[in-house]
Amino acid sequence: MSPFSQTKEATYWTDPHPTTINYSNKPLPQQTDVLVIGSGYTGVVTALQLKKADVDVTLIDKGRIGSEASSKNGGMCLSGLSTALFKVKKKFGREKMVQFFQESLESINCVERLITEGNIDCDFKRNGFLEAAFKPSHFDGLKEEQEFLAEHLDHTTFLIGGKYFYRDC
Ligand SMILES: Cc1cc2nc3c(=O)[nH]c(=O)nc-3n(C[C@H](O)[C@H](O)[C@H](O)COP(=O)(O)OP(=O)(O)OC[C@H]3O[C@@H](n4cnc5c(N)ncnc54)[C@H](O)[C@@H]3O)c2cc1C
Repeated sequence: MSPFSQTKEATYWTDPHPTTINYSNKPLPQQTDVLVIGSGYTGVVTALQLKKADVDVTLIDKGRIGSEASSKNGGMCLSGLSTALFKVKKKFGREKMVQFFQESLESINCVERLITEGNIDCDFKRNGFLEAAFKPSHFDGLKEEQEFLAEHLDHTTFLIGGKYFYRDC
């Protein structure tokens, strides 16, 4: 028997909310003011905001609603950007870098607002997050990042342990 024959391929968190409604036979409207293609976070939030503003909007997807990245992710809402902030500062300047960072914080507020307004039962919690160093050199990088965040963004972080702690583990 293949070791993978028992592997569950669908994400666990779709279990309590299986998509039972099939919209594929629903005819498309003849006319719409805005057509949103793709029903992941991006498309659904766009469609919701437009609907709230009383815009006639249609949302379509080639598959099941939210069946791609938006239902397969780790569910983490983190501050910051995927690119190191010192690189962003170098490329776009300090002012833009600060704006980008503030937007990343605002995006978490936005997620919280959407969850509250939509009464979505998804266990959203603000716990902060832990970034781990795999090597001593990574720890040095985290130290620099901490200084950078404090100096440019007035953002407090805490360092836990250190090189020796790492080596002794
Ligand atoms: C394994 C994994 C872990 C992740 N973990 C995190 C995390 O912890 N935190 C975090 O913030 N982000 C995480 N992400 C990233 C996050 O999930 C994505 O950035 C986000 O879901 C993107 O949303 P989206 O709506 O743009 O795209 P998608 O959710 O991929 O939605 C796009 C939709 O468009 C539809 N579509 C595509 N082409 C067409 C077409 N031609 N016609 C009609 N429909 C079409 C697709 O079927 C799909 O439903 C993770 C991603 C992955 C894959």
